[in-house]
Amino acid sequence: MASVLVVEDDPFVRSALIRHLTEASHTVRSVGTALEALREVAHHRFDLVVLDLGLPDLDGSEALKMLRGITDVPVIIATARDDEAEIVRLLNAGADDYLTKPFSVEHLSARMAAVLRRARFGAGEDTSSAVLRVGGLTVDPLRRQAELDGVRLDLTRREFDLLAFLARRPGVVVSRRELLAEVWQQSYGDDQTIDVHLSWLRRKLGETAARPRYLHTLRGVGVKLEPPGAEPPR
Ligand code: CA
Repeated sequence: MASVLVVEDDPFVRSALIRHLTEASHTVRSVGTALEALREVAHHRFDLVVLDLGLPDLDGSEALKMLRGITDVPVIIATARDDEAEIVRLLNAGADDYLTKPFSVEHLSARMAAVLRRARFGAGEDTSSAVLRVGGLTVDPLRRQAELDGVRLDLTRREFDLLAFLARRPGVVVSRRELLAEVWQQSYGDDQTIDVHLSWLRRKLGETAARPRYLHTLRGVGVKLEPPGAEPPR
């Protein structure tokens, strides 16, 4: 069972969530503002955060951004706004999933189970825990650490999953749709989500789209990871 932080300012919604989660044997802490939520995640370890977007002190996307600055904990956003553009923006900003209010407890349970499963077992990974090597890049799935030329990379959970997925199939072109399905485990989403994460990963690998070393984007096709020099210069 999971340790959950509920961030919700509406006392009725909040107590209903706490009751339901506690009945489902989860450990729950709850706060009513974004700043309290930031303090909580800085001091306690959670398996999951349920974040209401309509908080009194900070805009939801701002709160999410600050949360992401501190922790990689899975976040499910709860929004009263059924605004697709906004939801896509929040998924890009690091939310793991979302629920549109009002939602049923069954719906929340299903989303929670999926998000926790993904976080625990690593998205899209097979069961092998062998260390992966692609050129000077080392990816250790078990310890969830990656190094480039012996220097530890500071990756978010998602960036790590993305890198590990690609490192398991070096030289193979993977489509964005496949990444979305395998790494994000979503059938819904847009290419922008993938592109944003790829660009972050690329930056951490110290390269640019114009001068790729490991991460090669093939326009309209997909992306592949391979050691520098594997492809003859064009
Ligand atoms: Ca609210």
